[in-house]
Amino acid sequence: MLDMFSLKGKTVIVTGANTGLGQGMCVAYAEAGANVCGVARRSCDETKALVEAKGGKFLEVIADLSTTEPVKRIIDSCIKEYGSADILVNNAGIIKREDAINVTEDDWNQVINVNLNVVFFLSQEFAKRAIESGRKAKIINICSMLSYQGGFRVPSYAASKSAVNGLTKALCNEWASKGINVNAIAPGYMETNNTKDIKADKDRNEAILDRIPQGRWGKPSDLMGTAIFLASSASDYINGFTIAVDGGWLAR
Ligand code: NAP
Repeated sequence: MLDMFSLKGKTVIVTGANTGLGQGMCVAYAEAGANVCGVARRSCDETKALVEAKGGKFLEVIADLSTTEPVKRIIDSCIKEYGSADILVNNAGIIKREDAINVTEDDWNQVINVNLNVVFFLSQEFAKRAIESGRKAKIINICSMLSYQGGFRVPSYAASKSAVNGLTKALCNEWASKGINVNAIAPGYMETNNTKDIKADKDRNEAILDRIPQGRWGKPSDLMGTAIFLASSASDYINGFTIAVDGGWLAR
């Protein structure tokens, strides 16, 4: 049974590979047997070393995902190096905290570009190439608790992550028949750069912990089982679904 979770011979592209959840997924995918193509706007030396320490292969693609300009180059680089691009994890994301009344158009657009626009166009390029090659493929989007809730002082983030949840279903409807699974993971409150400000805020931290039935923040390692599951053939008949990995947050 465990063979169905193996990613041996598969190639996975992870965006936002230099740190946090993206870095954790790169290492987990390497451990599961995949060749990893990590996309980031800065060096992935640390991730590369961690992947190689597990005996995996890591290709770094430097790209700023605030525009769609690098989309084709990312998929091309992966296919050139490894011969295929089988799994795409749309992980890179940003958050900007501000009262809704004061959000500037520039800040709004920055969040929507990284968290939504590039997710769509990178998925589109990936899907084109998968369909051309006739290979089965998997797309995993990274959603959020704010794919379900409005949050507070993060309207662009809530809008983008809710949209990614909808996009996951929309792309499933069009691409499932072409051999592509499009699913998502909605992490709960995980300890990374993205959340260091709210974790450092004593009152916010206490309020968050009070609401998590498991009573603790998540760690990047908490996401890895689901990340491997959705990338592997163990999830071949799951499509258009978002799995929450949240210590029970959404159950409250
Ligand atoms: P993180 O440590 O801040 O990582 C975000 C990643 O996205 C970093 O690698 C970052 O690169 C990259 N990125 C941002 N803008 C980019 C751009 N323009 N071009 C290329 N890369 C860019 O946060 P994280 O928690 O691991 O976040 C990973 C994903 O999980 C995000 O989509 C986030 O919204 C989502 N998420 C996180 C949590 C949580 O509690 N941590 C909860 C729900 C969802 P730099 O290092 O260069 O900025």
